[in-house]
Amino acid sequence: MKAVALFSGGLDSTVLAYHLLDQNAELKLLSIDYGQRHQKELDSSSNIAGSLSIPHQILQLPMLGNLLGGSALTDPAISLPEGHYAEDSMKATVVPNRNMILLSLAAGHAISLQFDTVAYAAHAGDHTIYPDCRPEFADAMDNVLQLADWNKINLHRPFVKWSKADLVKRGNELGVPFEKTWSCYAGGSKHCGKCGTCVERKEAFELVGLSDPTQYKG
Ligand SMILES: [Zn+2]
Repeated sequence: MKAVALFSGGLDSTVLAYHLLDQNAELKLLSIDYGQRHQKELDSSSNIAGSLSIPHQILQLPMLGNLLGGSALTDPAISLPEGHYAEDSMKATVVPNRNMILLSLAAGHAISLQFDTVAYAAHAGDHTIYPDCRPEFADAMDNVLQLADWNKINLHRPFVKWSKADLVKRGNELGVPFEKTWSCYAGGSKHCGKCGTCVERKEAFELVGLSDPTQYKG
């Protein structure tokens, strides 16, 4: 497999990178600055990719956020909700059509590199609030990518039926440096511990019975 993987520097996409390397994939990591509030994740992406010595590119599209208002992740006027990931209030963190946009960019890059795969780390815990993490969406995108070029591009989404805890378990097996990954939507120097993705991250370590190396505020 020759894959371009969407790589945010978060826990999920870092486990994905390690998982694909374990399967001997030839890998290129793509991070995208879409004007997200938590720019900090891009620093994590560079740090982790550097430690793996894998080709990595950060595509600078910060103005994209201007088109994708209505989300707490791209609109500073909308406050970031706290609480459990599955709560209705977390819908404020949905970035409109983000995955189709990012996967489309990754597919263009894969075609230009003559790679055969685009990979992303959508998992089952995302489905309740993120419409573009649903298996149905991934299947439909896979169908589109098969037709986007004369050579087929596959959409690889190995975690689409996995829980966050499954990802932590797999990451632990693979020696993922969880402390280098960044999940928090709030940005800042440490994880806030209160936003949906921080709560989900903490919960996943607890469910697996592993100590969480993340530094939380307070
Ligand atoms: Zn947080």
